[in-house]
Amino acid sequence: MSERAAPFYCPYCGDEDLRPSEQGHGAWECASCNRAFRLKFLGLLARGVRHDDGGGETI
Ligand SMILES: [Zn+2]
Repeated sequence: MSERAAPFYCPYCGDEDLRPSEQGHGAWECASCNRAFRLKFLGLLARGVRHDDGGGETI
């Protein structure tokens, strides 16, 4: 299984003209600013599940 994260905007110029790169898995190329970058999944955050009890904001 290949779970890939597809970016919608270039993180450098903000353009939407992105295409998968030949560089490998998770690599993308921006046709607008000519940059190539790679997305990498680092892992899950350790903050855990958010609890609603205590310190909840009431409007
Ligand atoms: Zn770009």
